[in-house]
Amino acid sequence: MKRRVVILGATGSIGESAMRVARAMPDRIEIVGLSGRNNTGRLLELAREFPEATLCAGDEAAAKQLSHDLGRTVLHGEEGLLTLAALPEADLVLVAIVGTTGLKPALHALENDKDLAVASKEILVMAGELVMATAAKMSGRVHPVDSEHNAIFQCLEGQDPSTVKRLILTCSGGPFRKADAADLASVTPEQALRHPTWSMGRKISIDSATLFNKGLEMIEAKWLFGMPMERVDVIVHPQSIVHSMVEFLDGSILAQLGSTDMALPIQYALTYPERLTGPCAPLDLTALGKLEFEAPRNDLFPALDLARRAGTAGGTLPAVLNAANEAAVDAFLSSKLPFPGIWESVARAMDEVPFVEHPTLDQLIAADHAARLIVGS
Ligand code: NAD
Ligand code: MG
Repeated sequence: MKRRVVILGATGSIGESAMRVARAMPDRIEIVGLSGRNNTGRLLELAREFPEATLCAGDEAAAKQLSHDLGRTVLHGEEGLLTLAALPEADLVLVAIVGTTGLKPALHALENDKDLAVASKEILVMAGELVMATAAKMSGRVHPVDSEHNAIFQCLEGQDPSTVKRLILTCSGGPFRKADAADLASVTPEQALRHPTWSMGRKISIDSATLFNKGLEMIEAKWLFGMPMERVDVIVHPQSIVHSMVEFLDGSILAQLGSTDMALPIQYALTYPERLTGPCAPLDLTALGKLEFEAPRNDLFPALDLARRAGTAGGTLPAVLNAANEAAVDAFLSSKLPFPGIWESVARAMDEVPFVEHPTLDQLIAADHAARLIVGS
C-alpha cells in the first residue's frame, strides 16, 4: 500500500530523516505536502525534488519568493499549515515542528480523518488528552515517532493492555550524566548542544541535557498509552540502543533495540503495520560489546520530578511546564539565562500560573502564554 504523506517541519532534523525514508521507498511513500519555516533555500530544494507536493513557507515574503522561483502557488503561516494538514490527497500527516505550533494542525488532521505521526512531543504534553480524544472520535490513528514511544508502541503490539505493569523509558543521561551540581552553573549553550548519542535539533538537544526531554516524554507516554504517571519509569542507558521497554505482570520485559537513527521509528510510523527494508543501518551488537543501565540522578536534574508532578496533577500544569521550558531554553540559547535557570524558571511558572483542572483548548493556550510571560519577565 502506498501512503500519501504530509511533512510539517520538513526542513528540520526529523523532516530530513523522514525524507531519507521516503527516498528509500518511493513505491510505498509519496510526499504530497511539505512545510518549513526558516530554511527557505532547503524548502526550495525539496520542492524541486518532490514537484507534486503542496508547499507551505513560514511567512508571506518567503512564500512569494518560492512561488516566483517555482512558478506555483505556495501557502504560508498557520493557515497554510492547516490547509496542508487537511489536504484531500493525504493519508497521513507527520508533525515534526519544534514546540506547540503543530497542535492545531495535528487536531485538524485528525478531524479530517488523517492518520497522525507525532514527533512534536510538546503538543502531546500540552494537550495530549485532547489529541487522543479527537483521534478516538475519528478514524485516524496516532503513531508515535519519538524513538522511546515508537519502541513501546512496538512492544505493546498484540499484548493485552491490562497485563502491562509499567513502561520503562530509556534515557541517554545527556552530556552531563557524570557532572557535579557545581559544574552545571557554568554550562554554555555550546557544551549543552553536544549530545553524546543522537544528532538532533537545538531545542531537543538542550532538553536532553537538562533531562526535560525525558520529563516531556514521561507525560507523552501517559497520553499515548493511557498509562497512569506512577507506571511510567525512566532508566538511564548511555548507549541509546535499547529504545525503551515494557514490563508485564508476569515479570517479562520486552524491549525494542536499534541503531541511533531516527529513520527507523519514522519509517515504522509512516509504514505501520508493515516492516520494510529501509535506510537504517543494521545494528551490530558484537561491535557494541555492552549495554549499561543506571538510575537517573534526580538530585542533579529536577526535570524528572517536575514532570512527574505535572503529569500527575494534569489539567493545565503540563502545558505550563512545557511552555516555561520552551521559553527558558530560548533564553538559555541566547545567553540570557544560566543552565540551572531553565529548571528554576519552570518550577516558578508551575507555582505561579493559576491551575485549571479540566481546561478547554483556549485555557491551555492561556496557561501556555502565562508561563512564557513569567519566564520572559
Ligand atoms: P528542528 O529544529 O531541527 O526542526 C524544526 C522544524 O520545524 C523545521 O522544519 C522548522 O522550519 C519548523 N518550524 C520551527 N518553528 C516553526 C514554526 N513556528 N512554525 C512552522 N514551522 C516551524 O527540530 P527537530 O529536532 O527536527 O525536532 C522536531 C520535533 O521532533 C520536536 O518536537 C522534537 O522534540 C521532536 N523529536 C526530535 C527528535 C530528533 O532526533 N531530532 C527525536 C524525537 C523527537
Ligand atoms: Mg525521544
